[in-house]
Amino acid sequence: MNLSSNLSRESIIHFLEGGGPDSRLFEAARAALQESAGSGVFLRGIVELSNNCRKNCLYCGLRKDNRNFSRYTIPAGEVVTVLKSGYAKGLRSFLLQSGELLGASHIDHIEKILRWVSGNLEGVSMVLSTGELPAKVLERFKKAGAHRYLLRIEASTPELYKRFHPDDGLHEYGDRLRSLQMIRASGWQTGTGVLIGLPGQTSENLADDLLFMKEMDIDMCGMGPYLEHEQTPLWNRRGELSQLEEREVLTLRMISLLRILLPTINIAATTALQTLDPEGLEKGLMAGANVVMPNLTPMKYRKDYNLYQGKVHVEDTLDEVLKILGNRCGVIGRNVELENPGDPIHFTNRMKAQAGD
Ligand code: SAM
Ligand code: SF4
Repeated sequence: MNLSSNLSRESIIHFLEGGGPDSRLFEAARAALQESAGSGVFLRGIVELSNNCRKNCLYCGLRKDNRNFSRYTIPAGEVVTVLKSGYAKGLRSFLLQSGELLGASHIDHIEKILRWVSGNLEGVSMVLSTGELPAKVLERFKKAGAHRYLLRIEASTPELYKRFHPDDGLHEYGDRLRSLQMIRASGWQTGTGVLIGLPGQTSENLADDLLFMKEMDIDMCGMGPYLEHEQTPLWNRRGELSQLEEREVLTLRMISLLRILLPTINIAATTALQTLDPEGLEKGLMAGANVVMPNLTPMKYRKDYNLYQGKVHVEDTLDEVLKILGNRCGVIGRNVELENPGDPIHFTNRMKAQAGD
């Protein structure tokens, strides 16, 4: 079977179901990465800005109706402190992530941080992952200096999406899709992703997720295993879940197949993958990922950003984290690219094509 960027749906399903062999798949993905973007690993410091959320996704520990933990928003001064220290150590891309909120104070807060970064940290690429927001708000964020937006479609099959979100008018598949399309059309470096291993999800669903990302021609992807959380409605369906090992291998196959379909995009080895397996970082990179997201959230907030149970909480200082990361990447022949925002080549090519170069 030919492993090229025009893989058929049938071939994708074949590999997802382990018709592999996996070694051949992972090798082909590494070759595709090496040829297009090289072996560099880009870092994106993540700040979990606020765990407040107006939504109630059935899988997420931050859902509005979960009242079993403290809600927080990190003040701008504390965010600035961690961004400065990340910058001093060579990070050039930061991701601000939060629950979805439309209130003026939340929007002003993000805008203020972005403006501070634009005025003080040179050569930084700011990424946002703050849910579905109106076009006007996104325009404000762009003017304040953000370039990249990550909005996971979560499940690209509308029927599946519906199964994991409340039917209350606030969680519509069509709205999420339009939001993603609007982000891409308004010039953002655009990222999406899906949850892997949801109860009842089939290999056909996952193959369609990959083809959705190819069709959308996205620039970045963050996709990872679904991990259960006791204080969510989906906990009741944990009996239907596949074993963690199966979710892990499925995630690795998804990463490889996406790398083959879209060789020049950025793909993250996600925290969820690293939560599943202490060697998730290496395995994700060996399957074709090229982005790692060290957590910069101040320690006192981390335990309250629990999307799922068992989320890894590294207690090391940033210096130690970067040193360990460098060593771990080195062992598998990969090089951490410091002082490099790591813009996806896919986006650069897309812009060139648009300009008619
Ligand atoms: N609120 C924004 C949104 O939903 O787009 C961004 C933050 S949200 C916490 C980031 C991602 O966490 C979601 O897109 C979802 O895929 C992931 N997530 C939520 N609950 C999860 C779970 N139980 N297991 C794995 N990933 C989860
Ligand atoms: Fe809120 Fe995002 Fe969690 Fe959904 S996934 S409940 S929008 S934080």
